[in-house]
Amino acid sequence: MSEFAHQRAELVAQLRRRGIVDERVLSAMATVPREQFVPDALQHEAYKDAALPVTEGQTISQPFIVALMTQLLSLEGGETVLEIGTGTGYQTAVLSLLCRFVVSIERLSGLAAEAKNRLSQLGYGNVELHTGDGTLGWKPAAPYDRVLVTAGAPEVPAPLYNQLRLGGRLVIPVGDEQSQVLEVIVKGQHGPEVIDAGGCRFVKLIGDAGWEPV
Ligand code: SAH
Repeated sequence: MSEFAHQRAELVAQLRRRGIVDERVLSAMATVPREQFVPDALQHEAYKDAALPVTEGQTISQPFIVALMTQLLSLEGGETVLEIGTGTGYQTAVLSLLCRFVVSIERLSGLAAEAKNRLSQLGYGNVELHTGDGTLGWKPAAPYDRVLVTAGAPEVPAPLYNQLRLGGRLVIPVGDEQSQVLEVIVKGQHGPEVIDAGGCRFVKLIGDAGWEPV
């Protein structure tokens, strides 16, 4: 086993000990090479359970948070998922192994271009990436079975809820700039049901239905 593969297996064991129980999520994370998604100078830290800085002041999320958010989506394999905040594409790769199709949107064109190359080179084919303001969603492929937002929002962007199918789930960090609560929102016949899944800290969701650009 290569050194990275060994470290990856250790990380997955750690995620299990920390309470991740969805076996599909654990096996997806056991295959995605996180070292390929972090800057070269940080490859030796790729399998620490920590967020790491990437380019343009953004981050690659902490593996535990990726696992938790993915688990909260309750994916079974046939879903179409909309992800907001492609970043490095790591979360996109994990999702792509667990559902039918992923549409992912990133607002920073440099990061979006890098993620696109990386995901195609690594062979993640069932993904479609776009550059733009993800708070507006992506109408051409709506409605979605699941929506995942990987940046912190001041409130739930209405277009994302609207583009969710009935019975679908939206997972999103909502709060102020310092800390957020991970919310799971299920779209029901009589409106949204909101479940609070604990605290987290993400970079800002910037856009029309998010934070103002600085
Ligand atoms: N999921 C990523 C981490 C995301 S960090 C990973 O696995 O690496 C959050 C990302 O959201 C950043 O890249 C940021 O540029 C992006 N972002 C912020 N506001 C956005 C918006 N309105 N639409 C799309 N992407 C946005």
